[in-house]
Amino acid sequence: MNDKKPYLVGMSSPDITLAEKEAVMAVMESRYLSMGNQYQTFERAVEEYSGAAHAVSVNSGTAGLHLCMRAAGVSDGDLVLTTPFSFVASTNVILFERAVPLYVDIDPVTGNIDPKLAAQAADDIAEGGKAAERWLPRKGVSADAQMKAMEPVDVFGQPADMQPLNQTARKHNLTVIEDSCEAIGAQYKGQAAGLLGDMGVFAFYPNKQMTTAEGGVIVTDDGEKAEFMRALRNQGRAPGDTWLDHSHLGYNYRMHELSAALGVVQIGRLDELLGKRQQVADWYGECLARIPQIETPQIVKSTTRMSWFVYVVRTEKGIDRNRVIELLGQEGIPARPYFSALHLQPYMVERFGYQPGDFPVTEDLAQRGLALPFSSVMKKDEVALVCEKLEKVLKLGS
Ligand SMILES: *Cc1c(COP(=O)(O)O)cnc(C)c1O
Repeated sequence: MNDKKPYLVGMSSPDITLAEKEAVMAVMESRYLSMGNQYQTFERAVEEYSGAAHAVSVNSGTAGLHLCMRAAGVSDGDLVLTTPFSFVASTNVILFERAVPLYVDIDPVTGNIDPKLAAQAADDIAEGGKAAERWLPRKGVSADAQMKAMEPVDVFGQPADMQPLNQTARKHNLTVIEDSCEAIGAQYKGQAAGLLGDMGVFAFYPNKQMTTAEGGVIVTDDGEKAEFMRALRNQGRAPGDTWLDHSHLGYNYRMHELSAALGVVQIGRLDELLGKRQQVADWYGECLARIPQIETPQIVKSTTRMSWFVYVVRTEKGIDRNRVIELLGQEGIPARPYFSALHLQPYMVERFGYQPGDFPVTEDLAQRGLALPFSSVMKKDEVALVCEKLEKVLKLGS
């Protein structure tokens, strides 16, 4: 993961002040490095910030999504309606439970799951037979598999179009798990991302809007599910269980105290951090406007508050995006493809028989998406430098 070349600008960066260092140091000086009171303080802060009734801290976003799958009752052979344009974790948590992702393609503007395709797929799967077949993978799934849940992803910090998606979910009795790992603080039609379905997850890897080094948190208004997930993250210990009593098959998905203490300070600064990211995005928007081969991100009307996670532009059709990345690297500017299509990952092809062309919009964005250096600590002259080098590289011809 670490960039060894000395780049002129960082790809991403956490935003750490003295307050975070002091909070972590205070934990170091206490006797409680895990299961103290910091994780609960952090959970209360997440509840307050998001408006959720319950926040359940975990040691990664992936762990949080996995617990949501368990709480939704997703198990052997079930279908989970989701998107192939995502980070790999959103699909893996389905596979952990021996269930099958039921992919539909995405909206070309936002990169989020297309609600019309989701509705059509759900209707056809419910009908079964020939109608269902066109949505199912070529292999690795039984023809009469049933849908159990829906997992939309708020791609790059912009909420999925949840209103029609929730309608589809209600019609087919699907539990909605919102992968909001890229969208803490975002709003959809005035409502907080993460709380738009039955359960949502935020993630705190160091490149996210706020960090706990590693970590995540589940938010939900469902008290029973929250209690179940608290038990699962703690080796399956239900309330009343002792250290060696285990009511459920559980995991060690606990967030430790150093992470939680870091998170308490970071969430207190979240609006500041999101404001700084908005400023960097605005600088990019201004300087990229003069580069015709680059399409800048579009924020749709339903996104009443954007939470900038990454700054992903698209190269114009016909341009070799990978060559652009290579040339930018030679100029000292890091850049990355983002995302790669999940259905074309080797293990997915092997298991489900996917082929190029199965999800054309996803594949198009996966080929043209270019994540530029982005963080809340980025300076205006760094943004200008990235734009200048990008313009130069595109002029060189690629
Ligand atoms: C970051 C992220 C996750 C969770 O990642 P972790 O590294 O496990 O915290 C899940 N889904 C998406 C879309 C993400 O971007």
